[in-house]
Amino acid sequence: MTVGIVIVSHSAALAAAAAELAREMAGDRLQLALAGGVDDEQAPLGTDATKVMAAIEEVDDDAGVLVLMDLGSAVLSAEMALDLLPPETAAHVELCEAPIVEGLIAAAVQAAAGAPLVEVAAEARNGLLAKASHLGVEMSAPGAGGGPGAAEGTDPAGDGAVSTSVPEVHLARVRVPNRLGFHARPAARIVEALAGLDAEVAVTDLTAGRGPARARSLNALITLGARQGDELELSATGPDATDALERLTALVEDNLGDPIDDDAVGAGGGGAPAYGPGAGGSAAGAEGAAVAGGVGGADGGAAAGAPGVLHGMSAAPGLAIGPVHQLGAATLPTREQLLAAGGAGDHAGTDAGTERARLAAALAGVHALLRRSRDELARRVGRGAAEMVGTQLLLLDDPDLRAAAESDIDARGLDAATAFGGAVEAALANYAALDDPYLLARAADLDAVAREVLAALVGVERTEVMPEGVVVARDLSPAEAGRLDPDRVRAVVTATGSPTSHAALIARALGIPAVVALGAEVLALAPGTEVVVDGDAGRVETGVDAPRAETVRGEVARRAAAHAELRERAAAHVTTRDGTAVEVQANVGLPRDAELAAREGADGIGMLRTEFLFLDRPDAPDEREQVATYTRICTAMGGRTVTVRTLDVGGDKPLDHVDVPEEANPFLGTRGIRLSLAAPALLRTQLRAVLRVAAAHPVQLMLPMVTVLEEITAVRHLVAELTEELRTEGHAVPERLPLGVMAEVPALALKARHLVGEVDTISIGTNDLTQYTLAAERGNPAVAALGDHLDPGVLSLIATIGAAAHGSDTRVAVCGDLASDPGVAGLLLGLGVRELSVPPGDVPAVKQAVREVSLAAAQELAAAAVACRGPAEVRALLAR
Ligand code: PEP
Ligand code: MG
Repeated sequence: MTVGIVIVSHSAALAAAAAELAREMAGDRLQLALAGGVDDEQAPLGTDATKVMAAIEEVDDDAGVLVLMDLGSAVLSAEMALDLLPPETAAHVELCEAPIVEGLIAAAVQAAAGAPLVEVAAEARNGLLAKASHLGVEMSAPGAGGGPGAAEGTDPAGDGAVSTSVPEVHLARVRVPNRLGFHARPAARIVEALAGLDAEVAVTDLTAGRGPARARSLNALITLGARQGDELELSATGPDATDALERLTALVEDNLGDPIDDDAVGAGGGGAPAYGPGAGGSAAGAEGAAVAGGVGGADGGAAAGAPGVLHGMSAAPGLAIGPVHQLGAATLPTREQLLAAGGAGDHAGTDAGTERARLAAALAGVHALLRRSRDELARRVGRGAAEMVGTQLLLLDDPDLRAAAESDIDARGLDAATAFGGAVEAALANYAALDDPYLLARAADLDAVAREVLAALVGVERTEVMPEGVVVARDLSPAEAGRLDPDRVRAVVTATGSPTSHAALIARALGIPAVVALGAEVLALAPGTEVVVDGDAGRVETGVDAPRAETVRGEVARRAAAHAELRERAAAHVTTRDGTAVEVQANVGLPRDAELAAREGADGIGMLRTEFLFLDRPDAPDEREQVATYTRICTAMGGRTVTVRTLDVGGDKPLDHVDVPEEANPFLGTRGIRLSLAAPALLRTQLRAVLRVAAAHPVQLMLPMVTVLEEITAVRHLVAELTEELRTEGHAVPERLPLGVMAEVPALALKARHLVGEVDTISIGTNDLTQYTLAAERGNPAVAALGDHLDPGVLSLIATIGAAAHGSDTRVAVCGDLASDPGVAGLLLGLGVRELSVPPGDVPAVKQAVREVSLAAAQELAAAAVACRGPAEVRALLAR
């Protein structure tokens, strides 16, 4: 079902010519009928209401009909046709004042994409904007009555349409502020900023003469290819149009969310944002996304063109040697292969409803897979890496992509896989026109996501476990990249892909050497073949003889030793330049994360998110299992303190086997310590396990989501009772169990002075503290821009806690995501924080940042930051 379009013109030839243009643009999905001229050979120019009525009936289905008319009697005939039609038909027919050529083209594209009537009409009315902008003619915005342009009723296109005919269009002009332009993350922020608003926004790049692009479509925004300094016109329609423009202009003022000191992003000159350890290394200098590669011919080891050497592109630095493991079947086949495997053939004869449902289920399944992958990365690597998969989620959720596929299912009777494959093909064609290697790499991401959806539709089996050694694949999907385990995978090499693909960025963040775009030869390597992967040079040696293998092993060992030295430096305790001791600890979820934390030099575990032990299982771990797990973590940390946070579920973290009450606002409901105290069976088991482990290891207990002091008292009573119980049973228990609370609720932060002396640590959970302080739900893209951790309101609360604890034995820590940004370490120390708990991989960088801070200067910075008006000012301060 697509919106039908009727052209009413005095001239049959004009109507036919306009229709030809529209079909050229919108393809044969377009439902178009013509009512041109009158049936009078002597005087063929004119309009006829019955012809208009017949044309409407021809294209009418439940999606509605848009009628575009030329002038004079065409309008009267169309109105008369409406009167002649049955009221139920007339109700979904819209007579549109848009110019007939531009309006038709714009409307046709939207209608063919399956947009609803209201959007098709809005597009038609915007049809003149691009031309007017190009010619430098101001189109008036609604409410601008009497303003320049509006008062004159300008007719920029000269075809009878005046600016007052599009009064609902709101316009704004901005310049692309950030160095990298519309790369995926700023584009994603634009899509997110519009979530929840009833407005349609189109973005036209006036400088490049491209667009308009629909601002809700990530693919459309990326393929607009806007660069730093380009002038953009934002045109918005709909009830929330002004809000939409306000949000977007605020986002532009905030550098589209990119760091203001954007040399820090994507250092290396390739135009790609870089993240995590290793970012800014050789891999960042991306030259293009083209598939390179092939076996060359010269001296066995180094030179380009050497025999037994495959040349690709550096994607993550480092040297590795090991046996090849072809991911083969575990790697997703190409889209073409997937379509051949399970396209129309298997589903011929199923109806459109079934195919739509299959598509919806596949999209939902891949959405869930990517979310898991994102959460896993957030836990293991940090938010930056997780955001990469977040971008894939937005590519997957692009409403235009889904609408195009659904429209093909409905209008052309295609099966879900063929329709989705076709929609992706069309979107990729737009990417192909770009000349920016970074943006081209987003096409690879879209392809990877699409392959996941097609695999789900045609039922391809996936392998969950990554093999050991050098992993060889055609390319890695984001979900596969999320499963890379640095303990098993020595290197990643791929036939296609680019250094800026998310798979490459994730490999870099995990410290796994990677080479991409090696060509198909790499897929022909026999499993078990020993290869040398040089991630810095972008090269894979295949003919490795014994002396060469020995040399490389020696070099790998030498580099590992050098790395270990760096970590050793990280292992030492740090102080600021002026001698204040600061603990840099790690946030972990599982024992293997603790092993990594120890290797990275963490001074302890600042937050063990115990909910990870409870996830993805039918029942909760019992006391014995918990004792074993906590003991493993403590053992891995070798005598450094492990802070065990009690189960933090509820809100956005439901658990199958925990009864969380149905609540209208779960984030404001029974979560964290509230849930634990309301149904204490799980808490009792957990506390018993913690007490038993604390008898032999330095353990601190930490309570999430504390709001009132009575919650602390209640847990203390429970700890005392369970201590006695365990003693009676003959278990060893500690003399005293140190206790920390998380400051996540603003009220608790404001009562910090009552916590001093009462608890050992106040650990600030900036993720939740931010959402509650700004009343902006974390994870809700509609308010993501509001929920800024650097809002001076949040900083003031941290300062309140810092001031309250000053000079006391109560330690102030930050364990939220904010702590992992080395650029804000100084600010946090200046606010009174003395412990930072971060993902394991970030420990060395944060320790280094602490070494470079002078506390006196940090305190000045903190005072200035708290006095700022908003997060943008804080960022400007930090940049200075
Ligand atoms: C926080 O809220 O900042 C925090 C560390 O806890 P979590 O992210 O696990 O809710
Ligand atoms: Mg929290």
